[in-house]
Amino acid sequence: MSVQRQSICILGATGSIGTNTLDVIRRHPERYHVFALTANQNIDLLFKQCLEFEPEYAVLTSDEHAESLQAKFNAESISTTLLVGIEQLDWVAGHEDVDTVMAAIVGAAGLLPTLAAVKAAKKVLLANKEALVMSGAIFMEAVSESGATLLPIDSEHNAIFQCLPEHFVSQGIQSCGIHNIVLTGSGGPFLTKPLAEFPMISPDQACAHPNWSMGRKISVDSATMMNKGLELIEACWLFDVQPEQIEVVLHPQSIIHSMVRYQDGSVIAQMGNPDMRTPIAHALAFPERISAGVAPLDFMQINQLTFEQPSYERYPCLQLAKEAMEQGGNTPARLNAANEVAVAAFLDENINFDQIALVIQQTLTETKYADVSDLDTVLAADNEARQRAQQIVDVLSAD
Ligand code: NAD
Ligand code: MG
Repeated sequence: MSVQRQSICILGATGSIGTNTLDVIRRHPERYHVFALTANQNIDLLFKQCLEFEPEYAVLTSDEHAESLQAKFNAESISTTLLVGIEQLDWVAGHEDVDTVMAAIVGAAGLLPTLAAVKAAKKVLLANKEALVMSGAIFMEAVSESGATLLPIDSEHNAIFQCLPEHFVSQGIQSCGIHNIVLTGSGGPFLTKPLAEFPMISPDQACAHPNWSMGRKISVDSATMMNKGLELIEACWLFDVQPEQIEVVLHPQSIIHSMVRYQDGSVIAQMGNPDMRTPIAHALAFPERISAGVAPLDFMQINQLTFEQPSYERYPCLQLAKEAMEQGGNTPARLNAANEVAVAAFLDENINFDQIALVIQQTLTETKYADVSDLDTVLAADNEARQRAQQIVDVLSAD
């Protein structure tokens, strides 16, 4: 059977999700054509990707190395057009020749280009959870207004999507007879580390996730479990449920990627080896299935699947995120901004690991709650929280 080739734009092509996406695409040249690749700074990798995939456009958001990338393009006679500047992200994401946009920029920087893809009614593969956390109501409204197809890439949300009946999108989750959603998380590298040692944790230790290989920001989020907190917020918006309908369960082996509990007592789980190419391939090919390069799950190699309840004492960020979603309005946007500042400060060794939660909590107390009416209110909350969090970091790092 011949299939129509999908034209793909990858926002954040040089990151962990971006490179995994290209790895899946590389296996299926008859199905996928790379139309545009974007990166912030990593010109060496972007160059290699352009050489291999020959996209129509490459976008660099920072102009620092643009000239040298253009020189490399010229030297190799690469026909890709190089665009520079953040506004070019929106342009390629909404381009009429694009069918599918992989939203894989990390952090709030991904919000506007992801929204541009949504407004242009693309098939949007959402890895950039921060965009949805910041602007949930506005984002989901834009999806239903434009008719864009939204498919989750986050492994837990992709799992939940796979465990729900297909009609949940058109008829709503209330029609599916579900009891609740079980969001699993490994607990990261510090599941059993004595709390007294938390202040001494180094960035490299925090980024050494036991099961997943990911970018540094999400790796730190996994170690604090802010990642699970952001995912809880993400799940509320994607699946139209309340925070109390989501149970967070620690599952250190990362084999079950999440579950749906039904009213009749059934629990449906999605399993697989922890490899992001599975959710990426699922979303790229949906509703079909394609190979992803992921080894089949070998049950004889799994000694045990275990589950436990996360402790808020060990993972205060999880509690902060849950409370932020319950409060609603601009609080998730303020939480996300404070977390981005705190994680960057920890990675730069300006604050200790255990101070990440402190910075977020203090930022939430010292910035104002407001209802969210439009994108400007979200961006204003993000900006205010970022500034306040930076001041708190400056005081802590001066001590
Ligand atoms: P990463 O740090 O490896 O890559 C980030 C990408 O975004 C890079 O291509 C970078 O050039 C680009 N980028 C960074 N800052 C930018 C800016 N200011 N403007 C434009 N582009 C910028 O991150 P990642 O681990 O691939 O994560 C990407 C997103 O996917 C995050 O939102 C993360 O939460 C989500 N996610 C990642 C994984 C994973 O396994 N890595 C799993 C689930 C969800
Ligand atoms: Mg996840």
